[in-house]
Amino acid sequence: MAPRVAIIGLASDFGCQVQVTNMEDHLLDVLGLMDLSYWQLASSGHLPDEYDVAVIEGAVTTADHAEALLKARETAAVVIAIGSCAITGGIPALAGTADYDARYGVVYGDGVAVARGRQLPAPVSSVIEVDYHVPGCPIDPAEFVTVLSRAIMGLKDDMPRDPMCAICKTQENVCFLDRGRACLGLVTRTGCTAKCVTLGRPCTGCRGISPEANIPAARLVYAEKGLDPLELDRLFDLYNAAREVVV
Ligand code: SF4
Ligand code: SF4
Repeated sequence: MAPRVAIIGLASDFGCQVQVTNMEDHLLDVLGLMDLSYWQLASSGHLPDEYDVAVIEGAVTTADHAEALLKARETAAVVIAIGSCAITGGIPALAGTADYDARYGVVYGDGVAVARGRQLPAPVSSVIEVDYHVPGCPIDPAEFVTVLSRAIMGLKDDMPRDPMCAICKTQENVCFLDRGRACLGLVTRTGCTAKCVTLGRPCTGCRGISPEANIPAARLVYAEKGLDPLELDRLFDLYNAAREVVV
C-alpha cells in the first residue's frame, strides 16, 4: 500500500502549500508512490485518524498547534517540516522580537483571546522531532518532491549544510559585500543556487543559518567591507528571529 500523506498547516500564509500545487512538472516523480490522504489547503475533508507521513507547514503559535503536532508525531512514522516558518519560526517569529503581548493587543485588543494558549512563535522542532526538512520561503517544489521521495524510500534527510557563497561564486555574481551592501549568503544554508543574488537582490537568509556558518568571522567580514557588523544580526531577524543566541 502506498504511504498515506497528510499536509497540515499551522501559522503561515500557506505559501509553501501553494508551492506544492506548483509541482505539476515533478508530479510524475512521486505519483503512484503515495496516497495524498489530506491536504489542508486543497481539501474540505477532515484530517484522517491514520496516515503515514505528516508534512507540516507553519510555525507553532498556540497550544492547539502544539497538540496537533504531538498527535501528528504519534500518528505518522515520518514527519517532514516544510518552509522557514516550520523550520526556524520564519516570519511569524518576527512577532517575538519585541513585546509580543503588546503587539498582540494592537491587533486584537484586550478582548477574549482569539487563540487558545497563544505562545511565542516557534519552530516545529521545539515541540516534536522532525525527520526531514525542506527549507526556504517559499519552498522550491522540486526540492519538496526530492525530500518527499527520500522519505517515502526510507533514505536519510539530506538537507544541505554549507553556507551558500561558494555556489554564489559559481553563478558568477558580483558579491554584494564588495559593493557595500549587506548579504546573508555567507551564513545561510545553501541549496537555492543563490537565487536572490542571481536575480539582483541580497540573500535575506530564508533557508536558515548554516550549521557550518562562522558568525563571528562573518561579522569581521562585514566590518572589513565597511558594514556595521551588527547589521548581520539585525538581518537574521527576518527569518531566524527564533534562533538561539549565536555568539
Ligand atoms: S555574500 Fe552574498 S553576494 Fe557575496 S558571495 Fe556570498 S551570497 Fe554571494
Ligand atoms: S538567496 Fe537567500 S533569501 Fe534568496 S532563496 Fe536563497 S536562501 Fe532564500
